[in-house]
Amino acid sequence: MNAISTAALSPLPRIDAEGRKNLVGLSREELEAEMLGFGLEKFRARQLWHWIYHRGATDFAVMTTLAKPVRDKLAEAYAVLRPTVVRDLKSTDGTRKWLLRMPDGQEVESVHIPEEDRGTLCVSSQVGCTLTCRFCHTGTQRLVRNLTAAEIVAQVMLARDALGEWPAPPDGRMVSNIVMMGMGEPLFNYENVAKALKIVMDGDGISISKRRITLSTSGVVPMMKRCGEELNVNLAVSLHAVTDELRDIIMPINRKYPLRELIDACRNYPGVNNARRITFEYVMLKGLNDSPADARALVNLLRGIPAKINLIPFNPWPGAPYERSTDRAIQVFGDIVNHAGYASPVRTPRGEDIMAACGQLKSESMKLTAAERARIQEVIAEKDAELTG
Ligand code: SAH
Ligand code: SF4
Repeated sequence: MNAISTAALSPLPRIDAEGRKNLVGLSREELEAEMLGFGLEKFRARQLWHWIYHRGATDFAVMTTLAKPVRDKLAEAYAVLRPTVVRDLKSTDGTRKWLLRMPDGQEVESVHIPEEDRGTLCVSSQVGCTLTCRFCHTGTQRLVRNLTAAEIVAQVMLARDALGEWPAPPDGRMVSNIVMMGMGEPLFNYENVAKALKIVMDGDGISISKRRITLSTSGVVPMMKRCGEELNVNLAVSLHAVTDELRDIIMPINRKYPLRELIDACRNYPGVNNARRITFEYVMLKGLNDSPADARALVNLLRGIPAKINLIPFNPWPGAPYERSTDRAIQVFGDIVNHAGYASPVRTPRGEDIMAACGQLKSESMKLTAAERARIQEVIAEKDAELTG
């Protein structure tokens, strides 16, 4: 952890203002140990788990499989906490964005994107991000801290609250898929992300299968194997450039883990095969990475890796140093990739009216003053120095 990421902040508390311990975010084993320590039988933890993660209960009073005196005793010592919703925005296209405030005042966002046959929740893993990808607004935020497992799971629970999905139907769920594509780099907060995803995948709870969960990374090479082995979720890699020269500039993490190492880690990602491909995200930046030659180089680079390529039109934000590629450039690029045999859907920007698109989370629709612009440059320089230092 570096100076920026250890900002003195406290997360969703393990203990609330009334001195009650939060049960959200404990693993099954931890919950069992907790109940045993509280003088209850082990199977009480199973019952609690079911109420908390299958039924979405936040009040012990409704947990009727437990005797009334047990419920009363639990309510004195424990709580099932949710973050505070400070904003709940709905786009004309159905996309919904929640701005959630943690007790330390830090805010993160989750976005729900409904589609015809499914609904995807985009979940954040950190407040801000220690990395400084040049096209990403999150990278310009000064305060960074990891979210706890409780805060990550709570984003899913909150979406379920809002969409009325307790218990979730087996088919046709509104929250059927999860992408770790919100704010932050999930592989820099691996322990908490892993713990949260295991809770989310648990069959007697939220029960979203690993096949419906995708973790997106900017390329934290040393953590990729472990992520594949332990969680076996789908992997998405933010590639965005096909040469080290350009990737070093737009994604400074490339200076630490260059393309060759990243591509090797993708090739060796556990469980990857033709039925389970790696998604390569490629943000289309005008005049930078969007030429037909880039498209051909991309195809060459990914040769032999079961891959999907997701072309993302750049979402501009105030002060962003780049522009979105033209529709024509995106189409020509996509055609080349397609002819080489890769599915290459262009990600339709969703929720633009509520600033819910990639890399825009928490950005404001305002013009920056010169001082603010200078401040952003300063933050980027500080974070970069830490990355290379
Ligand atoms: N830190 C992880 C997870 C964030 S995912 C990662 O970088 O993979 C968010 C995705 O949106 C990433 O692919 C990111 O590169 C992309 N993105 C960020 N800013 C964007 C912008 N302004 N326009 C389009 N895509 C952007
Ligand atoms: Fe962080 Fe991902 Fe944004 Fe890069 S693209 S700054 S890794 S959130």
